[in-house]
Amino acid sequence: MSETDVHERSSTPLGTSRIPITRPLFGPEELVAIQRPLETGWVVQGPFVQEFEQRFSAYTGALHAVATSSCTTALHLAVAALGLKPGDEVIVPAFTWVATANVVEYMGATPVFCDVDLATYNIDVHQAAALVGPRTVGIIPVHLFGLSADMDPLLDVARSHGLWVVEDAACALGGWYRGRHAGTLGDAGAFSFHPRKSITTGEGGMITTARPDLDLASRSLRDHGASRSDLARHAQGGYLLSEYDRLGYNYRLTDIQGSLGCAQMDRLEMILAARRERAARYDEALAALDWLVPPVVPDGLVHGYQSYVCLFRPSTPTMPGLQALSDRRNALMANLEAIGIATRQGTHAPILQGFYRDKYGLRPEDFPAAAIADRLTLALPLFPQLTDAEQDRVIGALRAASPA
Ligand SMILES: *Cc1c(COP(=O)(O)O)cnc(C)c1O
Repeated sequence: MSETDVHERSSTPLGTSRIPITRPLFGPEELVAIQRPLETGWVVQGPFVQEFEQRFSAYTGALHAVATSSCTTALHLAVAALGLKPGDEVIVPAFTWVATANVVEYMGATPVFCDVDLATYNIDVHQAAALVGPRTVGIIPVHLFGLSADMDPLLDVARSHGLWVVEDAACALGGWYRGRHAGTLGDAGAFSFHPRKSITTGEGGMITTARPDLDLASRSLRDHGASRSDLARHAQGGYLLSEYDRLGYNYRLTDIQGSLGCAQMDRLEMILAARRERAARYDEALAALDWLVPPVVPDGLVHGYQSYVCLFRPSTPTMPGLQALSDRRNALMANLEAIGIATRQGTHAPILQGFYRDKYGLRPEDFPAAAIADRLTLALPLFPQLTDAEQDRVIGALRAASPA
């Protein structure tokens, strides 16, 4: 997730080229795109951000799309627009990027962690239902690695208790749930354009919603609480400032990033098709390895493959034996690193991170699937430019590893 995950050494001591975990796909079109706003002189949120939003709406089918400076700020604006306040509780998965829970903390509210389903790495809906209490106001399911959470039963739980649902769709571009794009099923969705995701604007995010009130509130809140955007204001002469009736933030995307986002949208279908094709190639080649569990795709879902995440499983994971198994996974990752193949743990479990562990006294035994996923997942290199030869090197190294 850090910059070093993306910008890595390009050669190994052995002379073969190093295979990174991912690599953004940029070409001459992106170079032209970022020049355009510089030529016009309008570089903050303006016409190119508007075009990016429109193209994002058209692709996902979201009624409204509101660009932001990151997915974290998109999530923050969504929960702020929904009126999240101190004393409220929000159910979040125990295995996700830490930002999902952080935005609840930003509002002074309390994240209530829910364990995940180890088959899909997504929130376990039965356990989520059991966590609903008198202070619960919402649920933030995550579509981890590009695979949608099980939204129909989750929306039923939310509806029956009067809760809102904000989908953390950071990884979910190209992920579909029963014919609808992930991130367009709840009250709002939040997408990321960090370089680790399928398309990138450097930093960047997008809120999707069908609710006009959330659309208006998030447009205002991303821009200091302004009643009108600069673009709308300038269309009317621009000499009077907007009204500021609410406490807002500066979470705007720049037009340089908006233009870059449009160029990336031009490549989106190609990028997603290449990712799916690479993923299918891994699926086939790795099926014979009895110590590695490739990602599963439940019926009716389309995986976006932001990441190709496997479970290292030479034996049945148990909590007492977890650290020993995890050490073996880590040794495998170090060996792969040494021959120029980058891997990563899938993501982390916030329940194991110091801030949440200490603040709420959380114990891994209470979230076994999240703890196992944190310690035993293994993400393989996946990006559209990955060649057959490079992918064969990864597959060959895994076949040779046989840690079972
Ligand atoms: C990447 C990611 C985020 C954060 O996205 P940013 O754009 O870096 O703020 C949040 N949630 C999940 C699940 C992610 O993978």
